[in-house]
Amino acid sequence: MNFADSEVVATIMSEHGYGMTDNEFDADLVFLNTCSIRDNAEQRIRHRLNALKNNKKKNRQLKVGILGCMAERLKTQLLEEEKLVDIVAGPDAYRDLPNLVSELEDQHKSINVLLSLEETYGDIQPTRLHSNGVTAFISIMRGCDNMCSFCVVPFTRGRERSRDPQSIAQEVAELQKNNYKEITLLGQNVDSYLWFGGGPKKEYNKLSPEEQAHSVNFAKLLEKIAIQAPEMRIRFSTSHPKDITDDVLYTMKKYDNLCNYIHFPAQSGSSRILEKMNRTYDRQWYMDKVKRIREILPNCGISCDIITGFCSETEEEHQETLSLMEWADFDFSYMYFYSERPGTLAARKYKDDIPEAIKKRRLSEVIDVQNQISQKKNATRVGQTFEVLIERSAKKSKDDFMGRTDQNITTIFPKENYQVGDRVKVRIERSTTTSLIGKVIA
Ligand code: SAH
Ligand code: SF4
Repeated sequence: MNFADSEVVATIMSEHGYGMTDNEFDADLVFLNTCSIRDNAEQRIRHRLNALKNNKKKNRQLKVGILGCMAERLKTQLLEEEKLVDIVAGPDAYRDLPNLVSELEDQHKSINVLLSLEETYGDIQPTRLHSNGVTAFISIMRGCDNMCSFCVVPFTRGRERSRDPQSIAQEVAELQKNNYKEITLLGQNVDSYLWFGGGPKKEYNKLSPEEQAHSVNFAKLLEKIAIQAPEMRIRFSTSHPKDITDDVLYTMKKYDNLCNYIHFPAQSGSSRILEKMNRTYDRQWYMDKVKRIREILPNCGISCDIITGFCSETEEEHQETLSLMEWADFDFSYMYFYSERPGTLAARKYKDDIPEAIKKRRLSEVIDVQNQISQKKNATRVGQTFEVLIERSAKKSKDDFMGRTDQNITTIFPKENYQVGDRVKVRIERSTTTSLIGKVIA
């Protein structure tokens, strides 16, 4: 999401005469687009700022701006704590950046951390940064109206708002014109996407039939894009288990270019912990949704997010997470130990009482279980053939390409005479925990 935001910032700045450089030591202005989701994300930025001191030594004119969630969370505190920082701009203040930069001519520091109820940057065509020319992100909504008790996002990114489908279609058309082959639609909770022609947000199923006919929900948006860009693969992230609908699943089934893959964060396998996390579903509901996905889309890849050691989590509840993962047979997961975020519901209401050593031990158990599942699932794919979209050279060998299957599984194979952007059929010969290795078949 920050990546997509940086592409919007690049357009805003270039429209005001600023150019980009790949060499950070050439830059007179450096923006760091930041994340606050866990403490270590913020620590990384602190280290990065420290490293920028060298740049400042070489270029006394250098100005540094902190953008995004950390800017929003810490506001003026950032200017006080980090002497190097000249500009602080929250996620809804990017149109103001050129102005914030020019203000520095008359004043020492500048800041804008106002959140908006409407800003979607819908009219701004992102400048594709470090693009492979094949895959691109499209942000379809901003903010989040859920209040998961562990999560800082609603505080740093503000209220949920959906982007005008017309402007999304324009961005798709621009990518088509430039020969892109895959789009990932982004939102904190894509299933609650709803374009209602402005006005207060409502739930789709609470609209009158007439209102429904004039509105676009996520299933309808997917269908529109699938029809508009039949030559492209379409993905999306993230689906919240409470909001995913049969309509979305049937739309995925209907259109081949909607990829068979759903990122479906459970966070925990314990109903008591899920309630404390304010996820608004329990273990059974989550399992029923996974069953429904597999019923309608038998080949659908499913991945998950897990948090270990949330406030008061017992050993039994941790075991419930492990058993849920085994039951669900996720293709892969993003796994973290709980990091208390100031100001969140959990920070205010619950004690962060699981010692770090236990959080980390539980995390390593969760990772072990997922690795075993991924390894086993990938092994069953040996001998099968998958269509892969070639994205770039493989990290470990310049003679190989990397691409992903429809189900989002990383696949590595010799380049031969193929090109980035080609769709090829790859027969799998070996597998690891994280990838499939094979050869293109004619
Ligand atoms: N909107 C998405 C999640 C976005 S944040 C959703 O609801 O699924 C990405 C992931 O970071 C979350 O799914 C969660 O697993 C993790 N995360 C969020 N806050 C966290 C915290 N305080 N500590 C540890 N992990 C956290
Ligand atoms: Fe955070 Fe929950 Fe919103 Fe995801 S749905 S961004 S976890 S509050």
